[in-house]
Amino acid sequence: MINSSLEYLKGVGSHRALLLFEELGLKTLKDLIYFFPFRYIDRTRFYKISEIEDVNLDIQLIGFVKSIEEQGFGRKKRLVVIFSDNEQTIELVFFKRISWIKKAIKVSGKYVVFGKPNLFNGVYSFVHPEMDLIDDLNSPKSAHFQPVYHSTERLKKNNLNNRYISRLIRLAILKAEGNIIENLSIQIIKKNNLICRKDALFNIHFPETQELLNQSVFRLKFEELFFLQLLILKNKALNQKIKSFRFKKIGDNFNGLFQNLPFQLTRAQKKVIKDIRKDVLSGFQMNRLIQGDVGSGKTVVAIMSLMMSLDNGFQAALMVPTAVLAHQHYSTILKFCESLKLNVGLLTGSTKSLEKKQIISDLSDGKIDIIIGTHALIEDNVIFKNLGLVIIDEQHKFGVAQRARLSKKSLFPPHVIVLTATPIPRTLAMTFYGDLDVSIIDELPPGRKEIKTVHKYDKDKEVVLSFLREKLELGQQVYIIYPLIEESEKLDYKNLLTAFEYLDQYFSNHGFVVSMLHGRMKNEEKNKQMKSFLNNKSQILVSTTVIEVGLDVKNASVMLIENAERFGLAQLHQLRGRVGRGNNQSFCILKTPYNISYEAKYRINVLVDSSDGFHISEADLKLRGPGDIMGTQQSGILNLKISNLVKDTDILILARKFAKDLLYNDPDIKGDQNKLIKNFYLLNFSEKIKWGRIS
Ligand code: ADP
Ligand code: MG
Repeated sequence: MINSSLEYLKGVGSHRALLLFEELGLKTLKDLIYFFPFRYIDRTRFYKISEIEDVNLDIQLIGFVKSIEEQGFGRKKRLVVIFSDNEQTIELVFFKRISWIKKAIKVSGKYVVFGKPNLFNGVYSFVHPEMDLIDDLNSPKSAHFQPVYHSTERLKKNNLNNRYISRLIRLAILKAEGNIIENLSIQIIKKNNLICRKDALFNIHFPETQELLNQSVFRLKFEELFFLQLLILKNKALNQKIKSFRFKKIGDNFNGLFQNLPFQLTRAQKKVIKDIRKDVLSGFQMNRLIQGDVGSGKTVVAIMSLMMSLDNGFQAALMVPTAVLAHQHYSTILKFCESLKLNVGLLTGSTKSLEKKQIISDLSDGKIDIIIGTHALIEDNVIFKNLGLVIIDEQHKFGVAQRARLSKKSLFPPHVIVLTATPIPRTLAMTFYGDLDVSIIDELPPGRKEIKTVHKYDKDKEVVLSFLREKLELGQQVYIIYPLIEESEKLDYKNLLTAFEYLDQYFSNHGFVVSMLHGRMKNEEKNKQMKSFLNNKSQILVSTTVIEVGLDVKNASVMLIENAERFGLAQLHQLRGRVGRGNNQSFCILKTPYNISYEAKYRINVLVDSSDGFHISEADLKLRGPGDIMGTQQSGILNLKISNLVKDTDILILARKFAKDLLYNDPDIKGDQNKLIKNFYLLNFSEKIKWGRIS
């Protein structure tokens, strides 16, 4: 019944049914009932300006227009109407059709203003509200919340407007009522004070009071997140049963490395190594995500894990996104493991074919213990003798499919560790990586000073250059970054070369050497330039974002980012993480033209104010939305109708707790008390594929 086609609902018919499907993806009664309003219009009363709160609600004010004024120029031009309710004033802002609106609005005219308040820099305003002159108002007050649904031009043209859709939904609920069955247990409902499913589904569309609306929203969000967590937790339980190698021994390699470390591991690093140790002893495949902010010391944790594999007679692989990073890890491992007799190989896209042949044959013979490489590692002709562990650094650069290919190169699926600096908020991590175990390095090595970040304009060029010189004269090194987002962009490329020439001239006059690094260079040249900076033969590295990930030069203390307005938040944070790795006070200078967009200014402010990766990623999420961050492969399956993984963290945590408790007490969901949950789960989720898994 609830799955019957919309075509047979009164007032729909085959033509409209097709339209509803093509435009909104609605096919069945259930689809329509779950097509929730994206906002409501509170027609129950007039608000005072002083009562405005940050809720997703349209409200109406009553008052008069005090003044009208145009502000700004060019693209930033806007019309600002000052509106008064006799007690306070609020700005009504218009960006479009300015001259038309200006003519239409009467100063000192009495109006009902109607829209969703917008909170900007702590002050409320309305952007493009509806305004009704009070004389035209036939019924100023009709007591209800009016649902507003997403719609399209095509639907409206066919009379499927908001009012019509809301009428259809009312009919659909009436028709399906007997089939809307509770899907949570009495216990869960009671403990969380939830209203029943049927009431929630009615009141989400037609709430009579704010209170009822809130209860419905809460109930439906809880339900949605609860089943999402149940799905994830169940999959996780299934996945854990994959057999893999047991690394019983802690041997000479691990101990040798440990004794030779030039520093004490942090508490967080030790904890993560313990997590890993436990995983590889279990006899089941490890799938662990290690998340740690830039500079938190993930590399050494990775290297120690590689040793666990070697100590038990297995090979290990470390895969990284760029050749530059592969070279760096290669030399780090050689340095750390100098006293151990290890055979370490390096395989990148630019490895010469003769050498590559040798490496491939050594890998299949088991002569190479550790291989470090880029995508080259997942080519089909690369075969291992006995691969026990795969570590993937900076995982967001690799797709799921690529990870899968690497872990197929062994008898059993090898253990997998993924390292990421993308500081995903915990709740998101547990949702998206539900099948991965997550360890977090939440502590920086001691002695790090916070990087001082400032915003400078292009006109401050001289000041900035002399600041760089000051630091260079103290023996420190400097990065200068240019935005070459697409390495193929000709103009950017030309700008980079021009800038390099200028900087080269300027700094060599003062006795310093400048290196340059960009994507168009031959790999050999890249390595040469990189080495020269690593060894302090050059003091300034002019580079594109090829250095974004992983690079570790302790003596570098200043990073200048040109055209910082062109970078995303996460990327700026990554880039900035290249400095502040030693004991010097480090600086990051974000340079932009004078005129930048509001959003760019916001991004820059976030970075100037904070160096906390979690905070930054949360800000980033707000700008971009979670789907974008994680890629679409995984967000598709979530298909959330009402919850927002960023904003509804509290409900998510609550729902997860109840899902966990349920599975703990009743792992197969067999109990009578959980029958409703089980039925709903089987009906809706039984055929969902296992997803997001590494092997
Ligand atoms: P990331 O987590 O960004 O990959 P790295 O692994 O490159 O960070 O580590 C950053 C720097 O900190 C490296 O130079 C590394 O040698 C150093 N480091 C790592 N752990 C410690 C520690 N416990 N104490 C001091 N320095 C450390
Ligand atoms: Mg790293």
